[in-house]
Amino acid sequence: MVASPASTVSDSMSASSQVPDVDVCVIGAGPVGATLACRLAREGIRVAIVDKAPLAPMEHPDFDGRAYAIAAGPKTLLEEAGVWELLPLESCPIEEILVTDGRPGEPASSLFLEFTREDASQPFGWMAEARALRVALNEALHMYPTLSVLSPAEAKVERKAEGATIRLNDGRVFNAALVVAADGRKSKLRSEAGIPLTKLSYGQTAIVCAIAHEFPHDNGALEHFLPAGPFAQLPMTGTENHPYLSAIVWSDKDGTAERFAALPDDVFAREIERRMGNTRLGKVTPVGRRWTYPLSAQYAQRYTDTRLLLVGDAAHGIHPIAGQGLNLGFRDIIALSEILIAAHHKGEDFGSPALLARYQARCRPANMLMLAATDTLDRLFSNNNPVIRLARDLGIASVHRLPALRKAFVRHAMGL
Ligand SMILES: Cc1cc2nc3c(=O)[nH]c(=O)nc-3n(C[C@H](O)[C@H](O)[C@H](O)COP(=O)(O)OP(=O)(O)OC[C@H]3O[C@@H](n4cnc5c(N)ncnc54)[C@H](O)[C@@H]3O)c2cc1C
Repeated sequence: MVASPASTVSDSMSASSQVPDVDVCVIGAGPVGATLACRLAREGIRVAIVDKAPLAPMEHPDFDGRAYAIAAGPKTLLEEAGVWELLPLESCPIEEILVTDGRPGEPASSLFLEFTREDASQPFGWMAEARALRVALNEALHMYPTLSVLSPAEAKVERKAEGATIRLNDGRVFNAALVVAADGRKSKLRSEAGIPLTKLSYGQTAIVCAIAHEFPHDNGALEHFLPAGPFAQLPMTGTENHPYLSAIVWSDKDGTAERFAALPDDVFAREIERRMGNTRLGKVTPVGRRWTYPLSAQYAQRYTDTRLLLVGDAAHGIHPIAGQGLNLGFRDIIALSEILIAAHHKGEDFGSPALLARYQARCRPANMLMLAATDTLDRLFSNNNPVIRLARDLGIASVHRLPALRKAFVRHAMGL
């Protein structure tokens, strides 16, 4: 059904010009949708990507403070999509991870778990500033002749067994063999398809910001479990003004988190130091804006419908306890691009029920496992019961003493 030849189209294109028919139409140009579009276009597959928002909002000159921990498997995907080399700032490798348990204002329990350079042949992940990733994605989206970027634009999608038709709000119409919903947690395509969604609430809000500190982080990350929620410190590449810099994701009870986030700098800094369980970074100073995000997990009951696939947050949202939300989305894209590139070589229909079923079988069980693991971790650790605290401290300490188990954890988290 997809007949016309592909040509270069971009958001600067006038509304009167035609959009060529494509093999895949991606709705949502967030990190997951944009990476998929670039990966497929790099293979010569004809792709259109539509976002209701303009592509530029993150290219703000101010330091943003939000960052992603990108695991090894997803980093390879970004390289294959031509995005990684365009990152304007160097990403910081994570080479050590310390997992501890405690209470605010107290030293961490003496039972801990530490992943070191000996547990893996390469860094556990890389911290990339969200703004830098956006800049690289925006540039990559305009590199491929078979990729049409349509933003800002609203799309009405009509799907039938024979193919999909996409109507833009400016009147342009084109066809696609497959539509990929990458339109985030509140996915319109998912609700239009009537795909049921299950939601889990945590009663927690995350405070996200950057901190400068007195001593170097040595590429080390910290996950410190506290009764009100986990506190994470993730190493970032320093700047001229702040040579020692980290990102923090501090989860606390709803209401309390917002009050902490509104504290003056000096008081906020002391509260951060009280939540680190150790003093290895010395005095801390908050840098840039503070962001708050209410935390919840959610999962779609299925990832497919007629000529439609769900990817990224449209399919699943998890607790940021292990920094794996975006990585899970990238893993969807690793699987989906492998399937679609193989179909492209064989001349297979991109929207066939068999292909859709292959994608769901490859991704959904693994994603559900990660959702269950992060959910259990949060419920087990956000708890002040002394018996549960002792059991979990013994648990993390025993993983620490078993190098084979430590390495298995690491391989899984790295997406290898
Ligand atoms: C506090 C916090 C910390 C996090 N930290 C990490 C971390 O360290 N590591 C990690 O891996 N993940 C992390 N995550 C998760 C990560 O932010 C998300 O998983 C990721 O942004 C999902 O990407 P996405 O492209 O699927 O969706 P989104 O980023 O939500 O993008 C969706 C896109 O779709 C567009 N859109 C929406 N509706 C429509 C429509 N109707 N038509 C067209 N376009 C539409 C939007 O404009 C947007 O561009 C964190 C999340 C939180 C809340």
